[in-house]
Amino acid sequence: MTDSVLIQVAVDTPVRGLFDYRLKSAQTEALIGCRVLVPFGHRELIGVIIRELDDSHTVAADKLRDVIQVIDPTPLLDPHCIELLLWSAGYYQYAVGAAVFTALPPALRKNKPAEISQSRVWLTQGEADTASLNRAPKQREVFDWLSQQPTGASDDALRQQFGPISTCLKSLEQRGLIFNQLSDALATQQASEKTTTLETQAPELTTEQADAYQQIAATLDSFAVHLLEGVTGSGKTEVYFALIEQLLNASGERQESAEPAQILIIVPEIGLTPQLLRRLNDRFQIPIATLHSNISEQQRQDTWLRIGLGQYQIILGTRLSVFTPIANLALIIIDEEHDHSLKQQEGFLYHARDVAIYRARMLQIPIVLGSATPSLESTLNAKQDRYNHLLMRQRAQATPLPRMQLVDMRALPARDILSPTLRQAMHRHLEAGNQVILFLNRRGFAPALICHECAWVAQCDRCDAKLTFHSNNAKLYCHHCDHRRSKPEQCPSCQSNNLLLVGFGTQRIEQLLADEFKQYSAIRFDRDAIKRKGQLEQILEDIQEQRHSIIIGTQILSKGHDFPRVSLVGVLDIDYGIFSADYRALEHSAQLLTQVAGRSGRRKEQGEVVIQSHAPDHPLLQSLIAKGYPDFAEQALALRQSCNLPPYSYQMLLRARATHADHAQQFLQQAKQLAQKQLASDLQIMGPLPSTMEKRAGKFRAVVLFSANSRRSLSLGTADWLQQLHRLPEARRVQWNLDIDPLEGI
Ligand code: ADP
Ligand code: ZN
Ligand code: ZN
Repeated sequence: MTDSVLIQVAVDTPVRGLFDYRLKSAQTEALIGCRVLVPFGHRELIGVIIRELDDSHTVAADKLRDVIQVIDPTPLLDPHCIELLLWSAGYYQYAVGAAVFTALPPALRKNKPAEISQSRVWLTQGEADTASLNRAPKQREVFDWLSQQPTGASDDALRQQFGPISTCLKSLEQRGLIFNQLSDALATQQASEKTTTLETQAPELTTEQADAYQQIAATLDSFAVHLLEGVTGSGKTEVYFALIEQLLNASGERQESAEPAQILIIVPEIGLTPQLLRRLNDRFQIPIATLHSNISEQQRQDTWLRIGLGQYQIILGTRLSVFTPIANLALIIIDEEHDHSLKQQEGFLYHARDVAIYRARMLQIPIVLGSATPSLESTLNAKQDRYNHLLMRQRAQATPLPRMQLVDMRALPARDILSPTLRQAMHRHLEAGNQVILFLNRRGFAPALICHECAWVAQCDRCDAKLTFHSNNAKLYCHHCDHRRSKPEQCPSCQSNNLLLVGFGTQRIEQLLADEFKQYSAIRFDRDAIKRKGQLEQILEDIQEQRHSIIIGTQILSKGHDFPRVSLVGVLDIDYGIFSADYRALEHSAQLLTQVAGRSGRRKEQGEVVIQSHAPDHPLLQSLIAKGYPDFAEQALALRQSCNLPPYSYQMLLRARATHADHAQQFLQQAKQLAQKQLASDLQIMGPLPSTMEKRAGKFRAVVLFSANSRRSLSLGTADWLQQLHRLPEARRVQWNLDIDPLEGI
């Protein structure tokens, strides 16, 4: 067996561990990171070669099977990425193979070659006689435009410019005036972006920005974590841009042979913040790679491969981009580092921020965590000097932060949703020609339908939840599963016709305003209003162009939008987080409130924020409003410390769900007993407990919570314990997972 070697493969399966195979090849070294097809049980699965095993490794020869096929001629994953994935799978206690295949774009999870697709572009003939176009004005227009595109234009680009155009192109082709050819998609993108974006100049940095920039720039060739905590509008983005510019220029100055530096920017949701991509395009005039799950498989594969080849210098992506092979990564930026969507909520439960920090350490490069409202985890790390804390307390454009005012709703009739204080403020700001935001984190028309006679409540059959009435199609929706049904005319319990819609959602606010504020146009900005492609962009543009005066929105308003003409934000109801049983809810509410408030007064006008609450005396709410987020965070941390909650302790959560509540309980009980025997003795174990919303989408859910004072206590013996859980007979009747550093509560 001299011409074959032993290799370890991460196979695309939830079964834990790496698997050994025999490969008949002389140059395995070059094959690490390539995909292979391997026999696995009775199936053939795809895997990625992780390492070569040396001679000392003994595997029963009769058990060893041969690799069927090597799919890639060159590695898809570089050694750094492999190391990152192995570490992440270990840290999050997830099957390595499944982790590796989560990291690959979907198109590369199949047995297909990893090739960058070529796109078709149209070009004009050099010496064309265009006299025949005199009677075809549309064709003339298209021809003239096309003749000015040096690298041609794709069908998509032409459609964007002229609308439906295929017959027109066909005629031009028949006349022999244009032709098409395969082209490098990147070159086309490059050329079209050059012509469509307007170049913007970098502003002169404020003192705070310049200071932050310099401290980060001083660490460009080493590992450092910078927590850039800047109030909303302080110009964090400009600090990122200055760093990017510095890196782009530096690689331009180095000799030809040096690879250009690449920068990875990770944001919670690209779809919600098209502004950042536009600003990047305007400033840098080079193609920007965007990586997220909302693009076609082919495009995602192409972009992913091109990034690996070093063809993009700026990469803007969601959490999944953290595992992308990037040949010459020089800086990582995590924007809105507090946002929970940086953590994957199903399958491989990784947190992109924490994986990115490990990646930066491995590569010895700096990483910037930016937020106006950093997570308590990061705040503590900064306090303890593990992160460099950079504070920007002033807004970049010299406008003061908005004035905040609390309104005690207890003094008002329970049915009122707009206090007189807020009403008056709205009139004042609207009459001055400014825009007003009303924030209510509840979609739909009314969150409950009840019977006035017998107190029946419309409930979801599949969840422990009330149904929300939506007025656009008069249906009841469950916001926790896809269930929907028509609104009954009569109470199903007592046949009374006296059914009441109770409470307010954004749709109802919209209706309410149609009376008192009818001279002002209002727009709703929630997930229902941006379901279709293009709607979000349209709403953002309409707000920007002041086609609406009042914006009624949910938490998508908190996602870093820059609305220059908003001067008043009314927070209709902030009480959810204050009264919630989940200890993280308070932090989340404070972040949401600060972010939403930060949409106000971003230009000349002094902004104002009116917060309606039934708990205006709450000390943390008071401190947030009087002194700002950093003081709030300080106090919230003290509270966590006194209860020994994260980030002062470490947690993992074992979740189970099943069609029968007993099954989930029984599995968790078994798991707990095994844990008591095998996991660290200083581990605190709580549960099994039913989840706060026990029934969801027809499944009963329960958890066991593990807490420890050190990470080591959490991880000691955990991998073996998990192997045993897989083998428990009770495991077959449930779906379960283990969440390390859980963000969602019980
Ligand atoms: P943040 O991301 O911290 O909320 P942005 O980077 O979006 O802030 O900046 C807020 C606004 O201030 C933007 O319109 C931006 O163009 C502007 N701005 C940022 N820095 C400066 C500066 N140094 N001079 C002038 N305007 C600036
Ligand atoms: Zn009834
Ligand atoms: Zn439901």
